[in-house]
Amino acid sequence: MSNLQTYIKNHYQKDLADCSNEELYLALLNYTKAASAQKPVNTGKKKLYYISAEFLIGKLLSNNLINLGLYDQVKQELADAGKDLIAVEEVELEPSLGNGGLGRLAACFLDSIATLELNGDGVGLNYHFGLFQQVLKNNEQTAVPNFWLTEQSWLVRSSRSYQVPFAHFTLTSTLYDIDVPGYKTATKNRLRLFDLDSVDAAIIADGIDFDKTDIARNLTLFLYPDDSDRQGELLRIFQQYFMVSNGAQLIIDEAIEKGSNLHDLADYAVIQINDTHPSLVIPEMIRLLTERGLDLDEAISIVRKMTAYTNHTILAEALEKWPLDFLQEVVPHLVPIIEELDRRIKESYSDPAVQIIDEYKRVHMAHMDIHYGYSVNGVAALHTEILKNSELKAFYDIYPEKFNNKTNGITFRRWLMHANPRLSHYLDELLGRDWHHDAAKLEGLLDFSGAADVKEKLEQIKAHNKRKLARHLKEVQGAEINPDSIFDIQIKRLHEYKRQQMNALYVISKYLDIKAGNIPARPITVFFGGKAAPAYTIAQDIIHLILCLSEVIAKDPEVAPHLQVVMVENYNVTASSFLIAAGDISEQISLASKEASGTGNMKFMLNGALTLGTMDGANVEIAELVGEDNIYIFGKDSETVIDLYAKEAYKSSEYYAREAIKPLVDFIISDTVLAVGKAERLERLYNELIRKDWFMTLLDLEDYIAVKERMLADYEDREGWLEKVLVNIAKAGFFSSDRTIAQYEEEVWHLNN
Ligand SMILES: *Cc1c(COP(=O)(O)O)cnc(C)c1O
Repeated sequence: MSNLQTYIKNHYQKDLADCSNEELYLALLNYTKAASAQKPVNTGKKKLYYISAEFLIGKLLSNNLINLGLYDQVKQELADAGKDLIAVEEVELEPSLGNGGLGRLAACFLDSIATLELNGDGVGLNYHFGLFQQVLKNNEQTAVPNFWLTEQSWLVRSSRSYQVPFAHFTLTSTLYDIDVPGYKTATKNRLRLFDLDSVDAAIIADGIDFDKTDIARNLTLFLYPDDSDRQGELLRIFQQYFMVSNGAQLIIDEAIEKGSNLHDLADYAVIQINDTHPSLVIPEMIRLLTERGLDLDEAISIVRKMTAYTNHTILAEALEKWPLDFLQEVVPHLVPIIEELDRRIKESYSDPAVQIIDEYKRVHMAHMDIHYGYSVNGVAALHTEILKNSELKAFYDIYPEKFNNKTNGITFRRWLMHANPRLSHYLDELLGRDWHHDAAKLEGLLDFSGAADVKEKLEQIKAHNKRKLARHLKEVQGAEINPDSIFDIQIKRLHEYKRQQMNALYVISKYLDIKAGNIPARPITVFFGGKAAPAYTIAQDIIHLILCLSEVIAKDPEVAPHLQVVMVENYNVTASSFLIAAGDISEQISLASKEASGTGNMKFMLNGALTLGTMDGANVEIAELVGEDNIYIFGKDSETVIDLYAKEAYKSSEYYAREAIKPLVDFIISDTVLAVGKAERLERLYNELIRKDWFMTLLDLEDYIAVKERMLADYEDREGWLEKVLVNIAKAGFFSSDRTIAQYEEEVWHLNN
């Protein structure tokens, strides 16, 4: 590649120094696309297709520059002309193709697959608005369409197009590709996103409402459109089938192009099903193979050799079950195949727990994946154990050999090099650059344990990142944040099992404590960030409580200097990158057994925040790696929790009655909070906590408060704290997604052997 200056001269007849940030962004977009266009795509015989409803890829400019090895050069050229890459980056709109952890995982995986030079593409949908944008107003969340698709973008329209048949019409797709260059590799992969030319934003009415029946115009507008009614559920099936039918046709075409005769398709392709949204790929692939002349038994056996399923949750309500009627209405041609797959299972197994079609004629997507795939994996050691021993035990008894664990990971290119350049450079200085390709090398940091200058530097880097976050939030939402306070951060989707409500109760406890005259040693800023599904009422109520507390505290001159609550608006990958680098305390407080893995916990650890968490998901593995002195664990363990559910033994009212808890819960409906909030929301949340509390907030609350207080006290021992920080960074190498992907390759995909 020529340098940027020359590129801009040639293509725009302008000097770099005379360009606006908008012009520079477009120039850099095209410059970066041109650089990756020069790389050949991976060509191995066998190829992975990672099918996922979400790819939460984040802004791509800086990451692509990093991976293409152009970042430092471009940054310098811009600086020489008085320009700032960070300001140019702000022009880019974050792609809205994902929702939360599962989508972010898919994005980290694509980066690692390309970096390990494995032949593997992502397959999904090109949502025009994707996930809604969150606007906070009157202490509530409102949802508006997230406009992100601009005239010029990372998408490249391909000439591939397929016919996708539905009951009453056939739709013609268009395929767009986004290049995925690996970190300093000779080759690249792609993210393949299917779309429909007839989609029309004009059908969006108020907020994010639209005509759910006009499939040709609405199909790829939104990710996870409202499914609280029948039309919404049908639309989800339309989307899922559109995704997998295109995907399956792409797989078959690419295999044939490489010489497959279809009888050997499994030598050419492996499909990783990311959660159950792509599960219809199984009957669809069988349909396409039989249509092309294979007999049914052979088609089934090929599909069984080429599909692998990743389970992401044990929450029963999240395991998709589609009424057979609905499938009949949308994709009637798949119904006989699904019925045949089910018949074969019923013939061999009488246990209702393993049937595909249940007695209510609902199709259990995960069950189809497990029976007709060759691999089932959980996403953290504890999660996989729970799958094997309780949630999917009936399946584990039949197919022990299919079950395996792949503890999630994160790409260090985005979550360290890009999110925290100062720390990244400092690690280069101390350890050399080997860790870029072998994250385990970060352990070398342990050699500096006890070194006062290293600790001082780690402290300075964190202080810098805190100021940077404070500036960013001032700019985007006008927040005034004390950069010298302790940054206590909980950022993740709003969900009762993640227990943001428990953190809010801690805030109440601290508020009351300060009112009683107990001033904390140092001010504390509690950050929350996360969207709630629009139809998820209690999650909306929790956001409401957080926003009300924020207002109550900000307006109280006795408390405000010591405690602040900040709700970060529209939490996404961009916001996350600022927050992750600046955190002191990483809140990972889900009810034990409910968080499959978490990846936010890994990002924070890597960036030198200490975890305050339950023994859940990957927290368990973090605790094992760093040792109990370097993590703050509280709460009941998963066995206890599972037992409480089994015996229906948890009664929140008994905990509510306790002296330490009652005043905190009552405060939710106190005059102080009601003065700034909505009685309906606050009372509903209050009643939920004292009557039901399905995710056992009150069970762990006292322990949580005690451990958090100990953590805050420990923060004042700066030497001791920074020692823990050092150990956490040193041990984070295990959570590189390069390690996870190497394990998938070795144990599941076998692309190269
Ligand atoms: C990492 C990440 C998540 C997942 O966070 P968890 O704490 O694991 O739930 C969700 N959203 C964004 C934007 C992320 O970057």
